[in-house]
Amino acid sequence: DLNPAEPAEDLRDRYADLVDRVRQARTAYYVEDAPTISDAEYDELYHRLEELEALHPEIVANDSPTQEVGGEVSAAFAPVKHLARMYSLEDVFSTDELTAWLEKTTASIEALPGAPAPAWLTELKIDGLAVNLLYRDGELVRAATRGDGTTGEDVTHNVRTISSIPTTLTGDGVPAEVEVRGEVFISSRDFRALNEAIVAEGRAPFANPRNAAAGSLRQKDPEVTARRRLSMFVHGVGAATGLEAESQSAVYELLKAWGLPVSPYCRVLGSTGEVLAFIEEFGRRRHDLIHEIDGIVVKVDDRRTQFRLGHTSRVPRWSVAYKYPPEEVNTKLLDILVNV
Ligand code: NAD
Repeated sequence: DLNPAEPAEDLRDRYADLVDRVRQARTAYYVEDAPTISDAEYDELYHRLEELEALHPEIVANDSPTQEVGGEVSAAFAPVKHLARMYSLEDVFSTDELTAWLEKTTASIEALPGAPAPAWLTELKIDGLAVNLLYRDGELVRAATRGDGTTGEDVTHNVRTISSIPTTLTGDGVPAEVEVRGEVFISSRDFRALNEAIVAEGRAPFANPRNAAAGSLRQKDPEVTARRRLSMFVHGVGAATGLEAESQSAVYELLKAWGLPVSPYCRVLGSTGEVLAFIEEFGRRRHDLIHEIDGIVVKVDDRRTQFRLGHTSRVPRWSVAYKYPPEEVNTKLLDILVNV
């Protein structure tokens, strides 16, 4: 419904309305862990906003949702400044768009003198929430949600109840200081059990595992979090003093050796064809995994190349998320709702 000849006033109203709707959806999703619209509807709204901004760059507000990392910080938690910024991910919704992204990124890498040919670290996009763990001299000293990327929420006490997250890193070469980023999630089985219990108490179930994980982690009382059986897989590092590794996959080997949980499904692939085959394989297996996934993340494996490609204000230029097409309804959730 884009009309370049639309009167300026109407255009500004429509723009403000779209920005408002995206903001409201974000607050419900990130602060209240209770989305008011589906992820597919949100993605559609967000892309309408991007399209409108592309067509009318003069109306783009500095604080437009397209210019910043989405999360908000609730006043219920102490704010924590991350040592290094956390980012969101650029997303694509078809294999054609993904192929175009791989071609564009290959061309950017080929233009960098001395950069190695791209190797694609391909991972599952876990349907959870991003958490930043800070270890000093191998001890977990703080844990925070991503928040707006600069400042997150202090959830240290709650994260300490998650058994797969070590409070002490062990082994050779543990850095003096390292931020480890990853996804806190609830297993598909525990998600169903939790929702059944919530419905039995007459309360509204969580819309998806991501909201269940976020709602369970962002509790005032760590004992509630402890009962929710959360898990984590780590998928990156932020600030790191004394961490030597040429590739992100080599970083994962180190993290694993220090006792951190790394997903068993990461692979380093050499060609677009292999990345597409990975997407197909996990599209088939996605409901047989211990956690839900909403897509696949592809990363340039070489760390120096990552650094040279850099970031926008919102996303790294060396990574992309392919999102699987939305599924109509979560049938298990439907069963629960029908049984109410
Ligand atoms: P995103 O969830 O699309 O992608 C970025 C995140 O992916 C990272 O922060 C990281 O936490 C996560 N991730 C999972 N697995 C990863 C891996 N292996 N490697 C790296 N990162 C991994 O982006 P976002 O900015 O967090 O959120 C936007 C999305 O959230 C939207 O596309 C929409 O689906 C959803 N959303 C929905 C609503 C709603 O109202 N329903 C509102 C806001 C956002």
